Amino acid sequence: EKELASFESRTPASRAALKKAEPRLPLGVASNFRSYEPWPLFVKDAKGSHIHDLDGNEYIDFNLCFGALMAGHCHPAVVAAVQERLEVGTMYGMPHTLEYELAEEICTRFPLEQARFGSSGTEVTMHAIRLARGFTGRDKIIKMEGGYHGVHDSVMVSMKPSAEHYGDPDRPTQVPAGAGVPHDTVKNTLVAQFNDLDAIKRLFAENPGQIACIILEPIMMNIGICIPVAGYLEGLREICTKEGALLIFDEVKTGAKLGRGGACEYFNIKADIVTLAKSIGGGFPLAAFAAKKEVMNMIAQHKVFHAGTYATNPLVMAAGLATFHHVLTPEGYAHIAKVGEALVEGYKQIVKKNSIEGYIESAGANGALLFYNKKIRNYREWLTVDTDLWRLYWFGMVNRGVMPQPYWWDEQWTLSVAHSLADIDRHLSAFEELAPAIAQ
Ligand code: PLP
Repeated sequence: EKELASFESRTPASRAALKKAEPRLPLGVASNFRSYEPWPLFVKDAKGSHIHDLDGNEYIDFNLCFGALMAGHCHPAVVAAVQERLEVGTMYGMPHTLEYELAEEICTRFPLEQARFGSSGTEVTMHAIRLARGFTGRDKIIKMEGGYHGVHDSVMVSMKPSAEHYGDPDRPTQVPAGAGVPHDTVKNTLVAQFNDLDAIKRLFAENPGQIACIILEPIMMNIGICIPVAGYLEGLREICTKEGALLIFDEVKTGAKLGRGGACEYFNIKADIVTLAKSIGGGFPLAAFAAKKEVMNMIAQHKVFHAGTYATNPLVMAAGLATFHHVLTPEGYAHIAKVGEALVEGYKQIVKKNSIEGYIESAGANGALLFYNKKIRNYREWLTVDTDLWRLYWFGMVNRGVMPQPYWWDEQWTLSVAHSLADIDRHLSAFEELAPAIAQ
């Protein structure tokens, strides 16, 4: 209550902006995830690791656009590349050389041979699934309960189902995420719990020759941070190979964050299709899907269709290339590892010192304080979080000048090349000050 009252008194301009937005935008926002009580912060500007709201409050930003800004805000190399490109055309709808340069970057980092581009994570997971369906000639797919892959119909199933609807843990019910998702689409999206290989085996046994692919985040980053148990990803790889289904790693979040070769490299597993977005664009709407040539031939042979007016927009591609060359580099990853280690170690000490019921999970540029007494393994365990405690943490940190992660307890912090050790110190000081209240 105290933290909420302080938030309200510090942010009247955001409240006023929401009032103006509400008549013309549902919920007053442009994306549902940006809406929360009492009102979302409206942004004035952002640079490097800092962001300001309309009232002029400054925050060190660990939200970073839901993890899309490992470059930080306005990375100089990204800005320069875009400015240079602006002079020579903003859209062509014709091939240009940045396309194959960026495809080359992706295919040397991931164990895949060809790529195509889009403008959002939603778009590329949709194409990846269609590609898998076209390649295998099968309609059904498997996704994880609680998994988020954007907002197209096939994946709008069991996104965040309530306990009242989710059914048997061994056979989760396929729950549409809201109205408007066709019943026939829901039927084709089979659901399993993350980390449950037996459930996957059962689904293949019950649907012989009908499952085109498994799509998942190799580390689930839409239920906090949920790490696969030993052997799980290997098991999925083996089953897919045996069953002639494709394994899709949705690396929209993990792709840039875990290191140069994303989860494929981190876990040493070859997915058949990888989807990328968020941090590969350095702050611009860049997304990609990549696969082996054998699979991508479906597109080359005009059997599976892929197109897009905004695909490979030259400004976006220039930003992407600059990001690969100046952010997602050995030096960039080394910097992030350094600030990340300091943040994680600091959190662990404060959590321990204050006997907070929670633990720190981290993976590459991401980490989170998770309010559970033991490690979560799947969505149902994630669902047991104490949201009041989490809100106290989020508002308490924001009131102390640190945006610890996006609002929502399924998210995590993101570190960028723009964060300094001084930013980490300020983050930890804020948490240290707040910790006794959280522990109570
Ligand atoms: N896949 C994953 C794993 C994501 O986290 C997200 C977005 O949060 C998406 C796909 C959808 O991406 P976008 O919001 O760009 O459509």
